[in-house]
Amino acid sequence: MGEKVGQLIDYIPQLALADPDAFGLALISMDGHRYSAGEADAPFTMQSVSKPFVYALALSVLGLDEVCRWVNAEPSGEAFNAISLERATGRPANAMVNAGAIVTTALIPDTADAPRFDRILDCLSRFAGRQLDVDEAVYASEVATGDRNRALAYLIRSTGLLPVDPVASVETYFRQCAVRVTALDLAAMAATLAHGGVNPLTGEAVVEKAVAAQVLAVMATCGMYDVSGDWLLRVGLPAKSGVSGGLIAAGPARFGLATYSPPLDPTGTSVRGRRALGALSERLGLHLMHNP
Ligand code: GLN
Repeated sequence: MGEKVGQLIDYIPQLALADPDAFGLALISMDGHRYSAGEADAPFTMQSVSKPFVYALALSVLGLDEVCRWVNAEPSGEAFNAISLERATGRPANAMVNAGAIVTTALIPDTADAPRFDRILDCLSRFAGRQLDVDEAVYASEVATGDRNRALAYLIRSTGLLPVDPVASVETYFRQCAVRVTALDLAAMAATLAHGGVNPLTGEAVVEKAVAAQVLAVMATCGMYDVSGDWLLRVGLPAKSGVSGGLIAAGPARFGLATYSPPLDPTGTSVRGRRALGALSERLGLHLMHNP
C-alpha cells in the first residue's frame, strides 16, 4: 500500500490481527437504499461504536433526566479511556467515553427473563436489522487485558454512581464491544438514528424519535472524544469511532454512513475512515451547518 497510515491497536491483542489493508464503506438512505464499496461485508467488532446504541437503550428505558443523573452530556476533551470523572458530581462526562459507557451499560435492567446482555444484543440487532452475535475471541482478549476499564468501574463505584457490581458491569461492557458487525450493519444502525429511530430496512421503530435526536446530539458533541470539536468543524456530522476501525456518521433525515479500516490515529480514530468521511462530506456538501 506504500504510504503507512495509522497503527493497529495492540492493547486488545486479538484486534492487532486485523487486516490493515481492509477498507469498506456503506451508506443507507432513508428509503432503505444500500450503497457500498470495498469490503462492506467484512466482519469486525463494534467496540466503542456500540456506545451510542446502548445509550439509546438506557434513554428508552429510563428517560433523559434519570440517565443524566448518572452520566452527564458534556464533551470531556479527553481520550476515550481517561481516568476522569466530574469533580463536582462524580459522574462520567458523557456516555461516549469509556467511563460513561460502563455506567450506561450498568443502567440497563437485568432480570431473570431478560438478562442485561440479552437486552443489549437484542437492541443492537434491531438497529442493524438482523440478528448479531459476539466474537468470542475478541471478548476473551479484552477480558484478559481490560484492567484499565475495571479500574474505571471501581473508581465510579467509589463515587456511588455505579448501580451494579464493577466486575459484572465491565464484563457486560466488554461483551457489547465484541458484538460482530459489518460496515453495512453499521450504516443501517446510523441510518436508524438519522431516520428518527425507525430502521429504514425493516421499518421497525427501534427507539422513539426524541431518543434518536438525543443520541445524535451527544454523538455530535462527544462522539469523537478529544477531536469532537475539530470533527464537527470540518466534517459537520454526528459520528462515533471505535478502536477496531469502525466509524459511523449520521445525516439527520438523510442517511447513515459507515466505514471500516483498522489502522488508527493516536486518538483511536480510523485514519482512512476519517479521510473518507471528510472527503465525502466536503464533496457532497453534507456539513450540517452548511447552508445549501
Ligand atoms: N473496548 C474498547 C475499550 O474499552 C473500546 C474503546 C474504543 O473503541 N474507543 O477500551
